[in-house]
Amino acid sequence: MIQEYQLRILPEQAANEQVLKQYIAREKGVKPDTIYAIRILKRSIDARQRTIYLNLGVRVYINEMPSGDEFQITEYRSVENKPQVIVVGAGPGGLFAALRLIELGLRPIVVERGKSVRDRKSDIALISREHIVNPESNYSFGEGGAGAFSDGKLYTRSKKRGNVDKILNVFCQHGANPAILADAHPHIGTDKLPKVIENMRNTILTNGGEVHFETRMDALIIKNNRVEGIETNTGQTFLGPVILATGHSARDVYRWLAENNVPIETKGLAVGVRLEHPSELIDQIQYHRREGRGSYLPAAEYSFVTQVKERGVYSFCMCPGGFVVPAASGPEQVVVNGMSPSNRGSKWSNSGMVVEIRPEDTEVDQWLVANGKADKVESVLKLMHFQEELERQSWLQGGMKQTAPAQRMVDFTNRKLGVDLPKSSYSPGLLASPLHFWLPDFISKRLAQGFLQFGKSCHGFLTNEAVMMGVETRTSSPIRIVRDKETMQHITIAGLFPCGEGAGYAGGIVSAGMDGERCAEAVAAFLNNPA
Ligand code: FAD
Repeated sequence: MIQEYQLRILPEQAANEQVLKQYIAREKGVKPDTIYAIRILKRSIDARQRTIYLNLGVRVYINEMPSGDEFQITEYRSVENKPQVIVVGAGPGGLFAALRLIELGLRPIVVERGKSVRDRKSDIALISREHIVNPESNYSFGEGGAGAFSDGKLYTRSKKRGNVDKILNVFCQHGANPAILADAHPHIGTDKLPKVIENMRNTILTNGGEVHFETRMDALIIKNNRVEGIETNTGQTFLGPVILATGHSARDVYRWLAENNVPIETKGLAVGVRLEHPSELIDQIQYHRREGRGSYLPAAEYSFVTQVKERGVYSFCMCPGGFVVPAASGPEQVVVNGMSPSNRGSKWSNSGMVVEIRPEDTEVDQWLVANGKADKVESVLKLMHFQEELERQSWLQGGMKQTAPAQRMVDFTNRKLGVDLPKSSYSPGLLASPLHFWLPDFISKRLAQGFLQFGKSCHGFLTNEAVMMGVETRTSSPIRIVRDKETMQHITIAGLFPCGEGAGYAGGIVSAGMDGERCAEAVAAFLNNPA
């Protein structure tokens, strides 16, 4: 017999399967030894009150064993000799596009400028250790894309639950813990993601697809407003319709599109800093108790949002129990971001704290002019130039290496430079710097106002135990590669499918994955009915 229950219990009552079994047996009047298995269907933490509860949806197998897998399996069949489709970029957008193409009987040829996820690790270590950024292999570029060395948070604001579930199930099929199907805020963790990504690549290869690492698309081959394929830095040319999933850090791709008169649009984004607190402090604040998370709760999360002078100020990509990482993808940049291991066990919790920027914001134009970039103001790439210049200033302020310019949180709101900084997870190191002074005013003043508001609504959050580091600029794409809503093709170039975060149509791992699937479906429709 199978029974499903909704439970509202204390965290310690679900400390492990045995304890949970005892609890269910007692509460539901079932003999413990008749419970063969328990599957958690939904799990969320309710920490709004002093007593913290776990809300669990459970399926209990009484006198019978569960049959089948804990997740849905997608069937992949060989696509050898099937029509080929070029997928540029092996981030979540490109990988999910490639897998979906296989499902649809098409052969993906994946072209990735960076290295395999395993080989990428040593380049990532070099950034922290030697302050060397390989422009083709870093936190943004390489197999798995920007999501590979991350927190692996898998939530999205998308309402299309069915598609979200599909993405999560494909992750499970490739080795992710099935707990991600139950958790309200699922995450994989940077220690587990690379293996999952490798398994996804192996599915592509064993079914007849191709994956070419260290192969950068340098040009699209366009004839009569139709894409015929791509040229690469290795001299190889690949022919077929193109899913362009190059992410928001591939600035050379945006430049190429602009120079070759392929229509693109300026898109708003958000920029700011990474803010890091001791995780113990965040646990105490969020769980309303001195002992913090204790033995049974995960590192606490938070989320803040407010409006300051008609622009959003909000926390972004929070990494409980994580690390701040050097996410530059080229020379003369200091860019910060966050990642966490699966146990979220580090001593720090961080998040981006960012201010919304819109294309029409004239303050950006004035700032570019004041910084000698007047020629960039009219460009469609204006906000990309703005990101670049901010990242360069961060590099200058950080001592012209990967050391990040940093300031304590209260000092920032008081516009004061303190020289001592707290210990931080950011391994290239911090350099005390007056962020209130050199960040553009329209960002720093809004951020300071936001911090004061967050501190009021959440006692203890605004503290000099927290340190902010510059700059967080890669929150989303500054460009939209405009496509038709129905056909998903670029508005003027047939056979070109702008995809994922870099195209301006996704933000985050799951939404990029979902967009990849949709692009693959659109390519299949295009090939069946080429107009
Ligand atoms: P990307 O992941 O950027 O992939 C683009 C790929 O294209 C890259 O591999 C790149 O090398 C390749 N490429 C670029 N140009 C070319 C070219 N010319 N030729 C060939 N290949 C090219 N999101 C979450 O949802 N949860 C998180 O926890 C999370 N944490 C993050 C932590 C960090 C440190 C970073 C940097 C990002 C994080 N994100 C997170 C954001 C998430 O990674 C992105 O939203 C997502 O990866 C976007 O997917 P994508 O496939 O569209 O682009």
